[in-house]
Amino acid sequence: MTKKNIETSLIIAGRNKKYTQGSINPVIQRASSIIFDSYYKKKQATNNCTQNKLCYGRRGTLTHFALKEAMMQLEHGAGCSLYPCGTAAIASSILAFVSAGDNILVTDAVYEPTKIFCQNVLRKMQISVTWFDPLIGNNISSLIKQNTRLIFLESPGSLTMEVQDIPGIIEAVRKKSPNITIILDNTWSAGIFLQALNVGVDISIQSGTKYLVGHSDAMIGTAVANAKCWKQLSEQSYLMGQTVDPDTAYMTLRGLRTLYVRLKQHEKNALHIAHWLSNNPFVYRVNHPALPECKGHKYFVRDFSGSSGLFSFILKKRLNFQQLTKYLDNFKYFHIAYSWGGFESLILTSQPEELKNIRKTKKLDFTGTLVRLHIGLENTDDLIRDLSDGFNRIKE
Ligand SMILES: *Cc1c(COP(=O)(O)O)cnc(C)c1O
Repeated sequence: MTKKNIETSLIIAGRNKKYTQGSINPVIQRASSIIFDSYYKKKQATNNCTQNKLCYGRRGTLTHFALKEAMMQLEHGAGCSLYPCGTAAIASSILAFVSAGDNILVTDAVYEPTKIFCQNVLRKMQISVTWFDPLIGNNISSLIKQNTRLIFLESPGSLTMEVQDIPGIIEAVRKKSPNITIILDNTWSAGIFLQALNVGVDISIQSGTKYLVGHSDAMIGTAVANAKCWKQLSEQSYLMGQTVDPDTAYMTLRGLRTLYVRLKQHEKNALHIAHWLSNNPFVYRVNHPALPECKGHKYFVRDFSGSSGLFSFILKKRLNFQQLTKYLDNFKYFHIAYSWGGFESLILTSQPEELKNIRKTKKLDFTGTLVRLHIGLENTDDLIRDLSDGFNRIKE
């Protein structure tokens, strides 16, 4: 694909005539069986089944091919695999590259189900996991052992939002052991604000459930791989039965068309609220990658072209159960819910002792309650009034 600006790429990606058949959008092709016109055509289709050619439903239909092609173009990969959710993309991508006896390195600020998958599933398979401080940078090379096969990054980290020195980590790893597979959970940037493969990551994973779909009404996972890893990733994922239904693939394609304008508005709203919070007497620290007080802020400035709508802040005090109930149960616009990336604002909290149990490499440097916000597309005056009323409920 010749060079285009990202707004334009998002509009045209995946809209090949093969998939749109005369309309603006790709068709929704629901199919398990694909009928072959002849024995010869069946042979031919089977031989080409990995090349986005119709063969069997599990290999994808026209709708899936359109989405895979779009994601491959947007994240500059050799191919894209689709999964029923982000967690499936993470689990399958890791499993595609490890065997019994191997070691993998995983950032300590990783999404919690990823952490539990490593602890429970990988351990059962005799794959050892070494956790590392997200801010380790090029010191990662000291952790690489003879049997280290894979490094799993997530930046910014879940909840605490540390931005990693991804280029620094990659350079150190490649110098010591060029064949290690480097995977990034790139959900926060939506694959737009950080072009992961361009900075040397092998596989960029997204929970498309978040910004790609963007409306909190479907779940999907994507993994875009470079030429070195693509074949192994796609074949292993296929063998693990990973597919997604064509309707969800369509919803994701639809989400792509407005992804940039949505992201820019999430960015603007979230920055406005993060700045407001950073001057608030109840707040100890705001963990927004674009604010200097966020850990790894300088890597954000260097490596990212924008910020999305998810960040956290830490209250000066730890709220007890009654205080949390009073605080959380009475917001007008911030709903208590898992996930994020939709059009609406959401709120969740974590207690320091809960985080202490999750984090393995470092002591927490705060004692207050952590509040995670996803800033939606509402008017920020309304959101600030809502947050301000929240602080008034925990004043005493
Ligand atoms: C939500 C999330 C996932 C998991 O995605 P699902 O689609 O819910 O399975 C993975 N990584 C990050 C960073 C997430 O926020």
